Amino acid sequence: MGVYLQVLALVFSGTILLWLGYTIFIGPLSPFYPGLFSLKGYGKKRQVTGLPGEPQICPLCSIKMDKGDLVRSLAFPSITGGSDRLMYIRGCFNCLGEENITRRCPVCGSYLNINDYLISRMFERVGRNNHVHVLGCNRCRRMGTLER
Ligand SMILES: [Zn+2]
Ligand SMILES: [Zn+2]
Repeated sequence: MGVYLQVLALVFSGTILLWLGYTIFIGPLSPFYPGLFSLKGYGKKRQVTGLPGEPQICPLCSIKMDKGDLVRSLAFPSITGGSDRLMYIRGCFNCLGEENITRRCPVCGSYLNINDYLISRMFERVGRNNHVHVLGCNRCRRMGTLER
């Protein structure tokens, strides 16, 4: 009978320890809780925003992209034979991946859905970063008015 009680006490204290361990290290009350999850990459990344036109800022959603992240875009060969090329910008990793991010045209200000894109001119510059000039979106810019 004494052994039985001892085992029971062990199991009981074991359960308490497990619960404590959960609360301290994993549970939502734990001070390690947010850190643990962001370390594992599960935490939601805090999104830094900026102004359209700044380097590394997505022109559709204004979210600052990580170094190395690029906007999804499609560049055409130059029509005029000059250093500038026509480019369609579909958006960045953030605003193409998540539906609840507001995408707007920096020129006309209209809200864009996932299939809309921006029309821009890319100037290739030797020795420097390419310069992208956004002309408008597929709503405010119609074909035929591109080369203005
Ligand atoms: Zn974006
Ligand atoms: Zn527009």
